[in-house]
Amino acid sequence: MIEGLEPVALQELRVLGTPRHWSVEGHLDQLLSLTPVRGDLHAEHRGNVLMVEGDLRTTVTLCCDRCLGQFNHELRCTSAELIWLGQAPPTEDDLQNSEEISAMEGLVEYLDPRGKFDPQQWVFEQLNLQLPLVNRCGEHCPGPRIHPERSFRESAEPIDPRWAALRGLQ
Ligand SMILES: [Zn+2]
Repeated sequence: MIEGLEPVALQELRVLGTPRHWSVEGHLDQLLSLTPVRGDLHAEHRGNVLMVEGDLRTTVTLCCDRCLGQFNHELRCTSAELIWLGQAPPTEDDLQNSEEISAMEGLVEYLDPRGKFDPQQWVFEQLNLQLPLVNRCGEHCPGPRIHPERSFRESAEPIDPRWAALRGLQ
């Protein structure tokens, strides 16, 4: 839980009339990070959309898929998102009638206007999107570790010439 990032009622943001700003410094419950998540975000109620922008960074420890060793990886993002305020995703008509239509492309998320915006959840989602799909510790990666017994047994077997070439690469 990051201090100060409690969910805020969308009605409250609407009444505010100006962007609400949050400073981010702390650890997320859903994402283990080596260093605190740092940065800032702001959200502005614009009638039928909520404009959210943020600048975030942290360092996470990942496990390499090849050598299974741990390595540190920096996550950093500058994100801007429009969230539709309605009880269902916007229809074509909604978008046609919106003043911000030009900025609406790619709009996928929506929030009930009577509900809340959770800045901490937003921070988590943005950083989570930055996690690599494949974890590689780097160019110096030693490669997969071979189980000693298994490699002994394999080396006792006659080597197929097609495999010998592969073995030479190890
Ligand atoms: Zn590795």
